[in-house]
Amino acid sequence: MTVQINSNNQMNQKMKNNIKEFFNEINNSDKICVIGHIAPDGDCIGSVMALYEFLKTEYDKDVCFGFDGKIPYNFKSYIDEKLILTDFEDKKFDLLIVLDCGDEERLGKYKSLIPNSKMIICVDHHKTNTEFADINIVDPTISSTGELLFHILKFENKQISLKMAEYIYTAIITDTGNFAYSSTSSTTHRVAAELIEIGVDVAKIDNQIYNSKPVSTVKAYIECISNINFYYNNKLGIAKISDEIVKRNNANINDIEGIVEFIREINEVEISCVLKEYNPALTKVSLRSKNDIDVSEISKKFEGGGHAKAAGFQINGSLKESEAILVKELEEYLGKWFT
Ligand code: 5GP
Ligand code: MN
Repeated sequence: MTVQINSNNQMNQKMKNNIKEFFNEINNSDKICVIGHIAPDGDCIGSVMALYEFLKTEYDKDVCFGFDGKIPYNFKSYIDEKLILTDFEDKKFDLLIVLDCGDEERLGKYKSLIPNSKMIICVDHHKTNTEFADINIVDPTISSTGELLFHILKFENKQISLKMAEYIYTAIITDTGNFAYSSTSSTTHRVAAELIEIGVDVAKIDNQIYNSKPVSTVKAYIECISNINFYYNNKLGIAKISDEIVKRNNANINDIEGIVEFIREINEVEISCVLKEYNPALTKVSLRSKNDIDVSEISKKFEGGGHAKAAGFQINGSLKESEAILVKELEEYLGKWFT
């Protein structure tokens, strides 16, 4: 069941009970592990690190964290990568806390921690969350897992340190497109205001996250955006990040971000799409939409997920095959614009 914080920032009883349980479980556990979703992004990294920092400083527990996938260049300074959980096959945990992850598949290599953990709690804001954990604190109306974590901590009057505030602020700005997406509420802004009062230096974080692109990444980005294919009277724009482009520019595929948002900026575009070549037979699809098209519904058909206006999935096929599959699939949504 979904538990929601309404626009007046009131929590329903189920949410309150789940939060009580969340802290009870922490109190009753000795070995705790915090993880997020595969190919971690700003919300995933910010939330995991904020909760890890909280548990490490507030409790005398054995706490660890894990990220499956390369840490993007702009978040490297947030994490001591030596501490990332490895060799966990035989590890047992009293409590596994999963953040910003809607289903077990998205845990990647850490999926094997599920049967090895006595209790699993998931804190998430994905519309497509499958409620796979023992306790699910899920609210798809909230901007980011970082914001949800803030509400959880505040509900129990927990102290938020400057370090935690920086992590949470990062989670919020990255998942809201700097307070621009429809998931941004007045409460999101109030949370940001509190984080700034704690001492977050917004310009420092902006420089760290957005003004730090490696030249190699920008060159690859330019190649990709100079080859956008448009369909259905420009309602659909698709760009492809091939292994060839990545290698030619000496870039890292996970660092080439922002193309799908760039395509959505085009006036005529209703759905933007980026295809990443994971290997010649596996393509990662990112979808973004404007107005009323719910791309999480499209993603569900391909066993992926996400939000109404930002979702993703994988296709077992080459870039070219995946593009053809998508163009055909999206005719149902965009074909009408063409006629
Ligand atoms: P992105 O396109 O930036 O990778 O992801 C956009 C949104 O869709 C994020 O909320 C992300 O968690 C979700 N998403 C992306 N790829 C997948 C996927 O393969 N499976 C699921 N369930 N969600 C995904
Ligand atoms: Mn998120």
